[in-house]
Amino acid sequence: MSKYVMALDQGTTSSRAIIFDDTGGIVAAAQNTFRQIYPRPAWVEHDPYDILASEFASMRDALQKSGLRGSDISAIGITNQRETTLVWDRETGMPVYNAIVWQCRRTADMCDTLKAAGLEEKVREKTGLLIDAYFSGTKIKWILDNVSGARERAEAGLLSFGTVESWLIWKLTGGRAHISDYSNASRTMLFNINTLEWDGELCDMLSVPMSMLPKAVPNSMEYGVVASGIDGLGQLAGVPVCGAAGDQQAALLGQGCISKGEAKNTYGTGCFTLMNTGADVPKSSSGLLTTVAWQIGGKTTYALEGSVFNAGSTIQWLRDGLGIISTARECDTLAESVPDNGGVYLVPAFTGLGAPYWDMYARGTITGLTRGSTRAHICRAALEGIAYQVKDLLDAMERDGVELSVLKVDGGASVSDVMLQFQSDVLRKPIDRPRIVETTALGAAFLAGLAAGVWSGTDDLARLRECERIFLPQMGSAEAISCCDGWRRAVGCAAGWTKH
Ligand code: ADP
Repeated sequence: MSKYVMALDQGTTSSRAIIFDDTGGIVAAAQNTFRQIYPRPAWVEHDPYDILASEFASMRDALQKSGLRGSDISAIGITNQRETTLVWDRETGMPVYNAIVWQCRRTADMCDTLKAAGLEEKVREKTGLLIDAYFSGTKIKWILDNVSGARERAEAGLLSFGTVESWLIWKLTGGRAHISDYSNASRTMLFNINTLEWDGELCDMLSVPMSMLPKAVPNSMEYGVVASGIDGLGQLAGVPVCGAAGDQQAALLGQGCISKGEAKNTYGTGCFTLMNTGADVPKSSSGLLTTVAWQIGGKTTYALEGSVFNAGSTIQWLRDGLGIISTARECDTLAESVPDNGGVYLVPAFTGLGAPYWDMYARGTITGLTRGSTRAHICRAALEGIAYQVKDLLDAMERDGVELSVLKVDGGASVSDVMLQFQSDVLRKPIDRPRIVETTALGAAFLAGLAAGVWSGTDDLARLRECERIFLPQMGSAEAISCCDGWRRAVGCAAGWTKH
């Protein structure tokens, strides 16, 4: 039995392949970027063949770099950009249109119509989602409504829909498996997360024929094997494809958040926060999403999901907009040079505020300036502003019924010790930063390796993920409460700014 697993991480701007050994170590990795297509403002597309070519090239490159043979790979797992929508001809395998990318806003009006028709509660009840152009459902409808002949062909059962993992698996298995895993299916606005079935009423609402839909399947099981005759992938023919999850869910797993109350936050340009809620399907009172995290061994795990619009982008703004630092690292150094924020708060509401505030009219604010304030205080306030937003999101998750036990972190800004210490101070919880930050790919590898018998259970995952550092609260709780009070008042100043 070989001990290597290949994870495909098909993202929005690049396709990667990473080969892990059975200790979770990275043996080889390869990455290829591909074209972003912007046909109109706020429209984003990918060529489905660019997705395939870049991913297949990464698979080939990673295998070559590893020095392994294809037969050494015991399983392939997939994680992917979520919600991106493809429709192809079942017979020829040819897409009828480009992939419409999750970021694309072309169906925003369609969503407004659905909301005006009072469908929000029904959608939320069944899918855990808000009605939004991000999700696949309205994108499928757009393709059927706008591509000549597509609706007739779909109604005749000739077309297939899939998100990116579905497209990759269809192509890798030579058209044998048309499936979507539960985590990806739960981002379509067509999938009932309570029953784990496609929902006829929601399909009717969006005029999507159910015959187009992939079979919804668990996240860790054999979906099929790599077909022979795929250009450049001959060595991998016969290797089972046996795990898939959307990128955020895969990261939750790769961070080892396998128990209820464990959460992960990715500190990137913005933040993505997911909390494992176990078998509970909480209904958020703060506009958070409820989603399927995964189903492993017949056990379904759910998650609450929220995002912060501006996080690392605040540091970019200090560098490129305000010009008070020349590198992101300098922000940390300056922040560490002062004992506290000196009463300065920075609310980075550059594009409004998302969950749990939901204020599109809010704008960025710096409050509490005095003649004693320096750029070091502003840098500190910027890092603290990121941590406060994450705290507010996690507080909202706790109000939805699940107590946070630990926050595991990744993403570019998670290198900042001063920010993570402050995060722990205001959250009053441990913050755990792993040694390997390839958590998304590790999650996909784990799903596949579990089905292939490389690992025996979720307990093994704890051993694969190595902790680099734990941050524990150091600040006194009275001081933390007073800091949070200042933040609340600062958010009050930012709120509703452009609304007259
Ligand atoms: P994304 O995937 O969203 O592009 P990354 O995970 O690559 O983001 O993280 C990049 C972000 O991390 C940038 O916005 C940058 O400002 C921030 N960042 C990088 N280094 C630091 C640092 N030392 N301290 C704070 N923020 C940082």
